[in-house]
Amino acid sequence: MPQTEGRRSRVAVVTGGASGIGAATCHRLAERGHRVAVLDLDGDGANRVAKELRSRGGDALGLAADVADRPAVDAAFAEVRAALGPTEILVTSAGLVAFDRFEDITPGRWNRIVDVNLTGTFHCCQAAVPDMVAAGWGRIVTISSSSAQRGSPTMAHYAAAKGGVIVLTKSLARAYASDGITVNSVPPSGIETPMQHRSQEEGNLPANEVMAGAIPLGRLGTPDDIAAAAAFLASDEAGFITGQVLGVNGGAVL
Ligand code: NAP
Repeated sequence: MPQTEGRRSRVAVVTGGASGIGAATCHRLAERGHRVAVLDLDGDGANRVAKELRSRGGDALGLAADVADRPAVDAAFAEVRAALGPTEILVTSAGLVAFDRFEDITPGRWNRIVDVNLTGTFHCCQAAVPDMVAAGWGRIVTISSSSAQRGSPTMAHYAAAKGGVIVLTKSLARAYASDGITVNSVPPSGIETPMQHRSQEEGNLPANEVMAGAIPLGRLGTPDDIAAAAAFLASDEAGFITGQVLGVNGGAVL
């Protein structure tokens, strides 16, 4: 895969890399010459994306892991270290969405949503940070959600978990700034992905035209819109940006 002149090839781990925003981010990072570990609950999907990257000349590895399972996360990062090298870039796109009336959220449902979206992000950051500290350089980009910026009447569990992701991001930015590690979050809104399509099919989100009508730029976002922002925040050029929440939402009013 061609590497842009002057850019260093780094090892990147992308969680949720088998689908949607995560898969687009894997492609973006590989196009920039990075070696990409595609981590996902869907191991076949992760292997498929890694195969696509290799077929385009990249160095890539597919990994099956549930980000809420700490031993599985630690084992996956150890595999990345052995196969590709220490992790320098982490993009946490693995996520689980849910729509429920507040009174209907069972403790079990609450726990699973928080476990995947927030605790899963914590596990992956904690697994990646030691490599970044040792290197004196690192980039973490968390994928949160616009629902965390404005609240959501039918997604209290998901919005609360994603709000936690934003504060975790800001906290890590302050904790590791002196180690050369930047930590930023991208909260998407209205991005056409399999997750969004499922939510529409289940009647939890309106049709594309209705959603696009509420976006000042007049269209839904693409996974690549988010991947472009994530790849920028993961670059050397973004080295003075940390602790920030970069909305990529077509100008949606939050
Ligand atoms: P997507 O197409 O469903 O991709 C998410 C990927 O994460 C899937 O491959 C999924 O695997 C994987 N995943 C789910 N739970 C996991 C777990 N416990 N461990 C490891 N991987 C897991 O969704 P997307 O729209 O690209 O979403 C990416 C991120 O953006 C998510 O964090 C989501 O909350 C956030 N987001 C998206 C939008 C939007 O408009 N699309 C808006 C706000 C926030 P399975 O398919 O096997 O579950």
